[in-house]
Amino acid sequence: MSNLYDVLIIGGGPAGLTAAQYSARAGLKTLVIDKSPSAGALAYASIIENYPGFKEPIRGKDLLSLFREQAIGFGAQYNESQVIGVRLEGDTKEVYTMDSTYKCSALIIATGSMGRKPTIKGEAEFLGRGVSYCAVCDAAFYRGKKVSVIGGSEEALKEAEYLTRFADRVLLLSPVKLKETPGQIPNLEIHEGITVTVITGSSVVESLTVKDSSGKENTIPIDGVFIYLQGNKPITDFLGESLALTDEGAIPMKQSMETNIPGVFCAGDVTSTEVRQVVVAASQGCIAALSAEQYITKRKRKRFDWHK
Ligand SMILES: Cc1cc2nc3c(=O)[nH]c(=O)nc-3n(C[C@H](O)[C@H](O)[C@H](O)COP(=O)(O)OP(=O)(O)OC[C@H]3O[C@@H](n4cnc5c(N)ncnc54)[C@H](O)[C@@H]3O)c2cc1C
Repeated sequence: MSNLYDVLIIGGGPAGLTAAQYSARAGLKTLVIDKSPSAGALAYASIIENYPGFKEPIRGKDLLSLFREQAIGFGAQYNESQVIGVRLEGDTKEVYTMDSTYKCSALIIATGSMGRKPTIKGEAEFLGRGVSYCAVCDAAFYRGKKVSVIGGSEEALKEAEYLTRFADRVLLLSPVKLKETPGQIPNLEIHEGITVTVITGSSVVESLTVKDSSGKENTIPIDGVFIYLQGNKPITDFLGESLALTDEGAIPMKQSMETNIPGVFCAGDVTSTEVRQVVVAASQGCIAALSAEQYITKRKRKRFDWHK
């Protein structure tokens, strides 16, 4: 099979697979290159209970499999491989993996933001089993429980305040002195100068080992840990300097999800979007695919998907 595609999508999460579904369904030759179906954010989410249309909670990886099966069902090709480089100049874009070069008319980047390496012992092991990076996603699972937020940024403080609406007790453990402190919130305790060294548990998180500024260690029983140490890191390393990025390394986009390079689109957590949720990633994937189709066909208006 020729390595030339109408639309090539890097990343097989909800953003990339929704883009693939719309692109393939529009009759475009579509390829998804995905590093691994178990490496993205959705694959790590133990339970999703806020994806519209699913009344019962569903495991993240089960929802992801449904996305993948649906895209493949519409004719998209799915290759498990890691993209290591791109060439974005000209009308035909090139995408490189370790063993192949692929060409395409339109490219959609949907690699997510799981680029931050875990820094606390136990963080990777318990991700999705008590360790979270997203209070909006997971706060509801901790009603009446005791959770900690680790970090000293404004984001960490905001997330801790959000969690106080669900959890009985929220401990904000900051390695540094906070720039601002909130007004009195009865179930929020702030501890500064604290480093969390180990997250432990059996099937789920049960406790944290912390060290204060004098080096004294302590163990705190805990039900959930929300980590905001360096924020999530958009996966854009394989782009080199080929594309404009924000200071945080995310891809800024137009309303059409096009980047600063014509014919190159983006979707999901890798973009500069503030809300990182499955439903947002999927909707951006849809817009990116319809914009890619419009770019390829040079149509003035977007094709409405239901006009078959
Ligand atoms: C623990 C956890 C719980 C969550 N809970 C919820 C929730 O309850 N509700 C909700 O709506 N959202 C939740 N989220 C957020 C949600 O999962 C993300 O917003 C969503 O998955 C983003 O989709 P995406 O397609 O942009 O990225 P991802 O899902 O991260 O997918 C990116 C894909 O790109 C691939 N990739 C990366 N680099 C490369 C490369 N170089 N080459 C090829 N492929 C590559 C990865 O393997 C991955 O498959 C949660 C996230 C986490 C981590």
